[in-house]
Amino acid sequence: MTTTETIAPLSPPLQKQTTVGNYFVSNYPPFSFWKPELVPDVFAALQRPPAPGTPLGVYLHIPFCRKRCHFCYFKVYTDKDSAAIRGYIEAALQELALYAGQPIIGGRKVNFVYFGGGTPSYLSVDQLQYLTDGMKKLISWDGAEEVTFECEPGTLTSHKLKAIREVGVTRLSLGVENFDDHILEVNGRAHHSKEIARAYSYARELEFPQINIDLIAGMVEETGANWKECVRKTIEMSPDSVTIYQMEVPYNTDIYQAMKASGQLVAPVADWDTKRAWVAWGFAELERAGYTVGSAYTAVKNKEKTRFIYRDRLWAGADLIGLGVASFGQLQGTHCQNLHDFEPYVNAVRAGKLPVYRALTPNADERLIREFILQLKLGRTDCGYFQKKFGVDVRQRFAQPLRVLHDWGFGEVEGDSVVLNREGLLQVDRLLHEFFLPEHKNARYA
Ligand code: SF4
Repeated sequence: MTTTETIAPLSPPLQKQTTVGNYFVSNYPPFSFWKPELVPDVFAALQRPPAPGTPLGVYLHIPFCRKRCHFCYFKVYTDKDSAAIRGYIEAALQELALYAGQPIIGGRKVNFVYFGGGTPSYLSVDQLQYLTDGMKKLISWDGAEEVTFECEPGTLTSHKLKAIREVGVTRLSLGVENFDDHILEVNGRAHHSKEIARAYSYARELEFPQINIDLIAGMVEETGANWKECVRKTIEMSPDSVTIYQMEVPYNTDIYQAMKASGQLVAPVADWDTKRAWVAWGFAELERAGYTVGSAYTAVKNKEKTRFIYRDRLWAGADLIGLGVASFGQLQGTHCQNLHDFEPYVNAVRAGKLPVYRALTPNADERLIREFILQLKLGRTDCGYFQKKFGVDVRQRFAQPLRVLHDWGFGEVEGDSVVLNREGLLQVDRLLHEFFLPEHKNARYA
């Protein structure tokens, strides 16, 4: 080891201002290492029977929204008519049919389903029923532990929520983000505060097993007073779980385009210290109201009852069929992403081809790093889990970055666990880069 590898900087090299780029680490190795020439790994994975005990999930990306939010970096369309949406649903069903007969399914029932977006609740009741009936005919999700459905409050009527409940959704996730109409408008959100209250009360009447509210700390023009009011209103509504993101400004957002046009390097949103302080305050208020902080982003009202199966299964290496444009999947340790654009995606599926665009099969060490860093987002990881699954003592394998975390005052090894304190948890996505292999540090997450 060289001297520079063994001595940590005296203070963490953490960014203060919000500049362009991704903060959130959603997978590892970074996407820039996923390649089209590695797609045959996906076909090979499909031909193998499942590894014993590996749960199977399905993710479907619904890429339609009423408006494009200025901070959005997802693949979304605001101009598709009902014929195009119907064509997309048909394509997603055809794509699922391509997976359904493969040896990798091995007779497994689906353990979890996630409808993400975009805006799944943009679909009409007829479209939703057609889609879910078709999916259930291809691959059974009776007995799935969790079916999540992301919603934009302004798209929900009592009739639509009833249909969402009836197709088997167990976890309804409401993209509230903020309760102030002016802040919602200047950030390009399609909904207003009245619609939040109305949708939430319908959803409660229908007794969804879990309702989650998403908030974003640090939206354009947000102030500390506004943030406090958002947290107060959230606690008053008493959802089962609350997810809080700190505003980031990736390259493909409208906010970045405006920054580029005016030559600005710093985004017009709160700096990282402020956003972290706001989330720390929000978590503390939620704890005072009886919630438990369960990860860098979530607090749950009843920790015995409220789980997030999709997140926990993915972070522990489950198989995931990723359906739809630009979707991510993972099959027997091979990670893949679908074609990025609407027409090429639909055309590939219509031609009977799996629409996978790029892939990567991490080696054993990369798989270990992946699971370790993702599970560190929970604030506590169990070393015994990694010893059992990978035959590795993570305290030794990661001795150097763990020492850095300790020296910076963010985390400790406590017996059989690696534990982050609150300050470390609230900037975990920055700290995770310390665990990356040298060739993956500074890589762009795009
Ligand atoms: S509703 Fe969500 S997916 Fe749609 S534009 Fe806004 S942030 Fe993006």
